[in-house]
Amino acid sequence: MVIQNKRKLLNRLAKAYPNPSTELLFTSPYELVVAVMLSAQCTDKKVNQVTPALFKRYPDFQSLAKAKLSELQTLIKPINYYLTKSKHLIAAAKVITEQFGGKIPETREALMKCPGIGQKTANVVLGELGHAKTFPVDTHVFRVSRRLGLASGKTVQEVEEELMQEFDAKYWHNLHHWLILHGRRVCKAPRPLCRECSLAEICPSYLIFVED
Ligand code: SF4
Repeated sequence: MVIQNKRKLLNRLAKAYPNPSTELLFTSPYELVVAVMLSAQCTDKKVNQVTPALFKRYPDFQSLAKAKLSELQTLIKPINYYLTKSKHLIAAAKVITEQFGGKIPETREALMKCPGIGQKTANVVLGELGHAKTFPVDTHVFRVSRRLGLASGKTVQEVEEELMQEFDAKYWHNLHHWLILHGRRVCKAPRPLCRECSLAEICPSYLIFVED
């Protein structure tokens, strides 16, 4: 992508989505970690529906580490993969309380020692908490960045590396959220709304989809 179009892309995304931030609701780093773990393969909307009761019952890692599995499963039942996620939440809370003194690790390597926390989840947590500059690649970022020609990698890791090379680190946080929001609202899978897209003029996939 030539520099002129890169500027155009950033300007148009900034105009379309003036408040780029996660749609997950949280009031503390603990709540962020739990919400992000729950959001894998699940909508933020559904996560936001279950977390108020969950955070009331288990307000910190200490209480979550001691949670009864069946009770936790009932609380998060509407969430996709709730059985596995319940086990991961308790196990991760135990690791954070027992190995890290109840504090969220500030490096990706340490954070990924927690069950259920993979590269994307760790990147989101570290980026949102400001511990590191990260460019988390979820299904929307992966799809939209490839359609826009910002990346061509076939894996999440490859696309993440390409995006980090292509853009200055100061743009990573916002661009990550812009691509997610654009993927949810306009550049949808499998059928993007190209005729309504403010990026159509600079998108190499526009003609592919409108002529399809
Ligand atoms: S023009 Fe179509 S494919 Fe390109 S970013 Fe917009 S919606 Fe996505």
